[in-house]
This record gives sequence, C-alpha cells and structure tokens, in this order.
Amino acid sequence: MAIELTQKPTILTGDRTTGPLHLGHYVGSLRNRVALQHTHRQFLLLADAQALTDNAHNPERVRRNIVEVALDYLAVGIDPTVTTICVQSCLPALAELSQLYLNFVTVARLERNPTIKDEIQARDFGRDIPAGFLCYPVAQAADITGFKATLVPVGEDQAPLIEQTNEIVRRLNRQIGRQVLLEATALIPRVGRLPGVDGKAKMSKSQGNAIPLSASAEEIAAAVRRMYTDPNHLRASDPGTVEGNVVFTYLDAFDDDREAVEDLKAQYRRGGLGDMALKRRLETILQVLLAPIRERRQALARQSSDVLDILREGTRRARGKTQATLDELRDGLGLFAFRE
Ligand code: ATP
Ligand code: MG
Repeated sequence: MAIELTQKPTILTGDRTTGPLHLGHYVGSLRNRVALQHTHRQFLLLADAQALTDNAHNPERVRRNIVEVALDYLAVGIDPTVTTICVQSCLPALAELSQLYLNFVTVARLERNPTIKDEIQARDFGRDIPAGFLCYPVAQAADITGFKATLVPVGEDQAPLIEQTNEIVRRLNRQIGRQVLLEATALIPRVGRLPGVDGKAKMSKSQGNAIPLSASAEEIAAAVRRMYTDPNHLRASDPGTVEGNVVFTYLDAFDDDREAVEDLKAQYRRGGLGDMALKRRLETILQVLLAPIRERRQALARQSSDVLDILREGTRRARGKTQATLDELRDGLGLFAFRE
C-alpha cells in the first residue's frame, strides 16, 4: 500500500469548462481555494467531461475553455507548484469509478436531486434530458472520492451534490465492510450564491448574466450600470428595499468595510441614497479587484504553452492518485482482476 507522505487534508474541487470564470466562482469557491492551497493538498479539476453532459453538440466549446479556465485559476493566484490542476477526461480511473457507482444509485434519487431539478429547468430540457446530465452527480462523486478528498470548497448550489456523494460513499463502504472511501464536507462561504447582474438567482456561465474575471474596465462599468436594484426606487429620496437588491448582495460579497455597508443599507431603507451613488461604490470596488487579475491573465495568455505544461504535469500526478483509489475499490468489492 502506498504511504501518504503528507498529513494535509485533501481538497478536490473544479469547474465545468463551459466558459471563462466569473465573479460567482470567485465568491463561491476561488477565494477559498487560494486561501487554503498551502494548508491543504489541493487538486483542481477542469471538468470537461461534465461540461459535455449538456454540450455534446459543441465539444469545441468544451475543449477551448480548458485553457481559459486554467488561465483564470492562475490569474486569481492558484499556485501550480502547490495545487495540482488536471483535466477530467484524461483521468480514465474517474470514469471507471463513476460506472461502478452508478450501480449504487437509483434513477429516482437522481431525479430528486434539487440542484439537478433546477438545472434541468434552467436548460429547458423538457423530457429530453441527456442521460449523462442526469447522472453527473455520480461522476462528481467519483471525482471527489477518487482523490480521497475530505473538503470541497463550493458555492451553495453544490450542497445537494456533496450530500449525494456522501450517500454513495456510505453505500460502497457498507458493501465492502470497511472504510475505503471518505465522506466530504462542503465549504460554503458567507455569500454562497452570487446572483446574476439581471437579478436571477445565480450568476452562471450558461445564463448570459455574468461578469467574467477577464472583463474589461468598460464591461465592468456597463454590467454595474444595468444591474438590477429595487424597481420601485425611482428617486433617491424614496425609501428602497435592500432584500433582493443585487447591488447590495454584491457589496455584501466584495466590500470589506462591513460597517459602511450596513450604514448604506439603513440609509437606503430610510430614503436619501440613490442607485447611482451605490453603483459607483460597487464599480470602484470591482475595478480594483479585477484589474490585477485581468493584467496577470493577459500576461499568462501570451505563454499558453506554459499553461499546457502545467496541465500535462498535473494530470500525470492525478492519474496515479485516482488509479490507486480505483484499484483499492476493485479489491474491496472483490472484482475480478488479472494478477501479474
Ligand atoms: P455552468 O453554467 O456551465 O453550469 P457555472 O457558472 O454554474 O457554469 P460551474 O462550473 O457549474 O459554473 O461551477 C463551478 C463552481 O463555482 C461550483 O463550486 C459552483 O458552486 C461555483 N459557482 C458557480 N456560480 C456561482 C455563483 N453564482 N455563486 C456562487 N458560487 C458559484
Ligand atoms: Mg453550474
């Protein structure tokens, strides 16, 4: 049995390669990943296989965005010398684990998953749900357990998926009779779900309501200008509503001066604070946050062969780790194997 040389707990998380990352990813997960990478053994998965489950008609989009997402990781401060970045579809052990796990999950349970229900609705699948899409929570369980991860920094929308992963872990361990797989905890931040600039419940790559981390200064300004506030707050002197007001949700997520934000909320409720002034404050904060990320990203993009080297090396490392878990599980289940 391989001896673990590190006692650090393992993190696994990742992103579908459907488009460049946005502020929702930053708030929901990237910030935690950057903060935890030195105290944990961290793996980041470029989830291209999962992206195919609703993009099979557009594999070019999925392939192209592998480097785009990797650039976002590096630009926000992921350090490839301590974090392993790898490509999901190049890790065959994960697909094999996923196939085994499918036998421990019912279709009814998959259909009951609240995240899947929401996403099916948002994608207008009607009755034509790709089987791969319905089953992606099982593949995600394979990803998390394949790396023996115990901590998963994710946005709120992912909580039901971690729950389903842990159900699979318990079933497999019960079948085997000992703890081969580990349960994982979701690490969800204070603002666990950033709404879209249109006020929709979630900023999402697929919904056209996102501010990408690579947005230009003009794009940031335009996005803040069209941001949803309180539609009944017509004059600055009118009392306004803070709940559901996207600008305030963003201030909650990005403004470090918590006390000032609470004062602004009180003033807005009373009347006397205009949307324009509020949006100016938010725009300044976002410009300051995103300018260095954008500049680093542009510099890194000029050396895309370096990025590919990072992914090649990370995927090689991840292959060993995930194959070891698969071997252990096959042994545990007592499956047939040729012994050399
Ligand atoms: P897609 O629309 O293709 O599903 P997405 O924008 O939902 O893309 P994912 O790749 O599915 O992004 O999500 C990756 C990670 O980022 C997950 O941990 C998810 O919880 C987090 N995340 C994505 N959008 C948000 C958001 N608006 N607020 C908080 N966290 C988010
Ligand atoms: Mg998503």
